[in-house]
Amino acid sequence: MSDLTLVLLAAGNSTRFKIPVKKQWLRIGHDPLWLYVTNRIKESLPEVTIILSAHANEIPFITPLCDFRVVSGGDTRQQSLKNALKEVKTPYVMVSDIARACVDPELIKRLIAHQGVADTIVPALEVHDTVVYNNETITREHVKRIQTPQLSRTDILRRALESDIEYTDESSAVVAYGGTRHFIPGDERAAKLTLAGDITALECLSPPAHYVFTGNGFDVHPFEEGKPMVLAGVEIDSPVGFKAHSDGDVAIHALIDALLGAACLGDIGMLFPDTDTAYKNIDSKVLLERCVEKLHHFGFVILHADITIIAQAPKIAPYKDLMRSRLASLLHIPTARVNIKATTTEHLGFIGRKEGLGVIATASVHYFDWKNG
Ligand code: MG
Repeated sequence: MSDLTLVLLAAGNSTRFKIPVKKQWLRIGHDPLWLYVTNRIKESLPEVTIILSAHANEIPFITPLCDFRVVSGGDTRQQSLKNALKEVKTPYVMVSDIARACVDPELIKRLIAHQGVADTIVPALEVHDTVVYNNETITREHVKRIQTPQLSRTDILRRALESDIEYTDESSAVVAYGGTRHFIPGDERAAKLTLAGDITALECLSPPAHYVFTGNGFDVHPFEEGKPMVLAGVEIDSPVGFKAHSDGDVAIHALIDALLGAACLGDIGMLFPDTDTAYKNIDSKVLLERCVEKLHHFGFVILHADITIIAQAPKIAPYKDLMRSRLASLLHIPTARVNIKATTTEHLGFIGRKEGLGVIATASVHYFDWKNG
């Protein structure tokens, strides 16, 4: 067992990264960025314990994809690091940011070779441009650009971070606390992924896999007298509506499950539990919009949807075109990629007796292509 723990910080909000996909979920081949970066560093540190700090809402989607420890991040980088350090049992800790995607194995080796030389070991780059501070040119030899990963003594780092001051890296906290810092040469290629345009410059990152993923969804709701009927986002002229916790738009519910299925993100009950009063009588179009946002957030682009409404009543044909265009606009795709079909059960079963109706949906998605836009 190693005396070192690797902490990876992946809980950031990626607010400066202006695309619908959250930076951590951009795909490198099939792997989300957080997994790719962790595995890349792990290759140089096969024996170490790994702790990943992630946003609390994302943890249920992260843990099934990896075998390392995942802890809840905080509102700031420093709070996320403090949370992760509570779990560290080793005397040394290496901390890196997921956004530093292309850390070179040689840099990891240099850090390990200097372990224990000071309280914190820090990769730093020289500055070759002229540096002006407060309108005065300063000696650039006195300036360093600090990088991660950094290798620190766990107990000193833990105590250094008890301060209320927000530090942008560990070594600044350790030095302010009175600890020692040792610089090693950094790596120009280990740039930080901050803006969307940065990613194409990072040569270690291969493009997302060109796969299409398909999911299915199925839902049934009984009719209820005196309620308005909304189906596939369209108001239907009908003496009955749906008995349901939400507005009962059974077509949208099946479609949400198909989308979540295609992206392997669970099901509608996980996303919008019917025990949650926030969803009582909610417009299902709002649920679909949130589902679409979620798919985008997790790195997917929606390709198409196909819906089969199984109903003895009402008649669907007069509404098909409006259903297509309404769903297409909610999915942010052209109408040509949404299909609505209707069938009956030839008067068999509960649908045949006009007690309710059922919907089957299929949807397909692919990874967001950050390389070619
Ligand atoms: Mg339902």
